[in-house]
Amino acid sequence: MGRLNIMDKLNAFVTAPFDDQALKPLQKWLNIIFGGWRETRRRITLEELKRELEGVQILLVELDPVPKGVIEESSELRLIASCRGNPRISCDVDAATKRGIPVIYAPGRNVVSVAESTIGFMIMLAHRLVEARDDLKKRRKWGSGKDYPYVKFQGIELQRKTVGIIGFGRIGTEVAKRLRRFDVNILVYDPFVSERFVRRWAGKKTDLGTLLQLSDFVTIHTPLAPETKHIIGKRELQLMKSSAFLINTARGVPVDEKALYEHLKQRRIKGAAFDVIENEPLEEDHPFLSLDNMLLTPHITAASVDTIRHYSFPISKDIQRWLRGLKPKNVFNPEVYG
Ligand code: NAD
Repeated sequence: MGRLNIMDKLNAFVTAPFDDQALKPLQKWLNIIFGGWRETRRRITLEELKRELEGVQILLVELDPVPKGVIEESSELRLIASCRGNPRISCDVDAATKRGIPVIYAPGRNVVSVAESTIGFMIMLAHRLVEARDDLKKRRKWGSGKDYPYVKFQGIELQRKTVGIIGFGRIGTEVAKRLRRFDVNILVYDPFVSERFVRRWAGKKTDLGTLLQLSDFVTIHTPLAPETKHIIGKRELQLMKSSAFLINTARGVPVDEKALYEHLKQRRIKGAAFDVIENEPLEEDHPFLSLDNMLLTPHITAASVDTIRHYSFPISKDIQRWLRGLKPKNVFNPEVYG
């Protein structure tokens, strides 16, 4: 983590994995100091981060926390580039705003990854791929008699089924875009988008109750906000078909987990796939782990190598804009610009 001192160049401390091609134009302007997991094979501590930020004007991070104390004590810090869709998750944006430091970010960096994974969940649930894989691993041979796999793991096709999308923003629309190829009916519940917008994606705007009653797959893409907490509770689950599947990749606890557990246990809906849960990381005795009709992943649907490329180029361009004295395109706290 050595530091060069070239006159007239600002110093940037980088802990985010970053695309080399996106980094190249920045090297003309900046002394770049690397201190991320990729270089050190461990997460930087807060004390180390504070030390590294002495004499540094730009911090480029992804997952590493940047709390108030670090921002307040880094007297030369002038720009934070958070390679996340929501920088608040790891960075104290208010502390940065208080010091007039712009926080640039990368909206939409992982929408494709989450949208593709959502389709993947639908296919895995419909065709019972994970159940069949688990069964084969357990037996170490094909089942026979009443366990004959061709009968035991008979699935359904997506074709001509109805998919209900709750929350029709960046990820919801990307899911719809991909679903068009599957020849499904798309219903959308999102009070903040127009019917015309939904029609553009070959969907039909509807109310939540109708969506839940008619859908074979319900997928949730609402934002992290107090208003979206438990929008799917016991009452809503009761509206779903017993043959339906529920998929959740959205943060912010849109589903009442206790109610869902009961529904899945009593097979009042067919199955579910969740990438996110209320309290992460998952506890060893989480009730979901005891369910054979729940497909759980450890919050990985956004984790693709391509995500690095998706955020590196817009972040690099925004840093260059800032270096030229222009307002970056994606500023999370635009109030710093008055
Ligand atoms: P977005 O802001 O682009 O879209 C959210 C949509 O939900 C908007 O269209 C909004 O109008 C709608 N909405 C708001 N309140 C609603 C309500 N009460 N009912 C129905 N719709 C409502 O967000 P996005 O980028 O598409 O992300 C969607 C979700 O996915 C977020 O919770 C985000 O945190 C999560 N996410 C998860 C991962 C992951 O790793 N699993 C990665 C990225 C994003």
